[in-house]
Amino acid sequence: MKDMAPEQPLLELRNLEKRFELDRGFLETIKFRGGKVIREKREVHAVNNVTLGVERGEALCVVGESGCGKSTVARLVAGLLTPSGGEIHYDGARIDTLSRKAMLPLRKKMQMIFQNPYASLNPRMTIQQALEEPVRHHNPSLSRSAVRDKVADVMRSVGVDPSWSKRYPHEFSGGQRQRIAIARALTVDPEFIIADEPISALDVSIQAQVLNLMLEAKEQRGLTYLFITHDLSVVQHFGTRVVVLYLGSICELADTATLFSNPKHPYTRALLSAVPQLNDDKPNHIRLKGEIPTPINLPQGCPFQSRCAYANERCRVEQPRPLQQSGGGMVACHAVEEDRID
Ligand code: SF4
Repeated sequence: MKDMAPEQPLLELRNLEKRFELDRGFLETIKFRGGKVIREKREVHAVNNVTLGVERGEALCVVGESGCGKSTVARLVAGLLTPSGGEIHYDGARIDTLSRKAMLPLRKKMQMIFQNPYASLNPRMTIQQALEEPVRHHNPSLSRSAVRDKVADVMRSVGVDPSWSKRYPHEFSGGQRQRIAIARALTVDPEFIIADEPISALDVSIQAQVLNLMLEAKEQRGLTYLFITHDLSVVQHFGTRVVVLYLGSICELADTATLFSNPKHPYTRALLSAVPQLNDDKPNHIRLKGEIPTPINLPQGCPFQSRCAYANERCRVEQPRPLQQSGGGMVACHAVEEDRID
């Protein structure tokens, strides 16, 4: 009997890189070296050699401290930024080299939800206008009444009364605005949602409601999510798998239950130790010491070395590559590879 080929991921990032040139005055970039005048280019290394796949129907969470490159990954996937290196594949086809026109059919399949719902809602448009716009754009043959019905259906599905559709975004609370932003993404029946910190600007009391709404949409519509967050309790609730980023590089990738029960990378362990757990009467918070290097001058070797209690000489010269683990998942750490961590 023939082995079944593993299913192709819906989204694949291959050795993805993003560098931003520092915005400096021309004179600041001029240096004298070896008797010659040269123009020095300084770059922020926001995303470094990131390789991962997002499977159909999963919610892959990308976590890390602010500045770790997670939002840049989201913007690269959404086509809002151009990679400096590497490739992005969607449904088996390379998309990072497509023209805007060639990307259009994909825009319908792939929608983005931002941290600030104002980013996707025009303050001068009523909710009806804001929600009708993408439906008309992607389905020009739909009749006016069919467009109206579609908008009313989606509004109901996110818990916003369709009779409020003549109102403007400022007339809604933050939580309702985010529901409307989610509705706007759902009106075109996408299959893939890139959510960049979608609840972090909301009141804690309504974060869970919006998160549950996104989970319901996932179940009912078979959505796949790339979910960016700094909040590990959100990951625990929402993610099927988790990628931990540090200074633009992958430290660890694992399914959510494994990562929370058996974190391997020293950075993942430190992050998780800061999450309060019920029934944990002896919390063991790992305090990270040492300087955080800037993404402008990344050190040679492991980017986490200056804060890692397990760093050795190899860590200072050789950057660890993510290696497959026996229980699934990947970890980029010499100490894990050398079995130096219990
Ligand atoms: Fe620490 Fe070395 Fe592992 Fe980096 S590679 S996390 S410095 S032990």
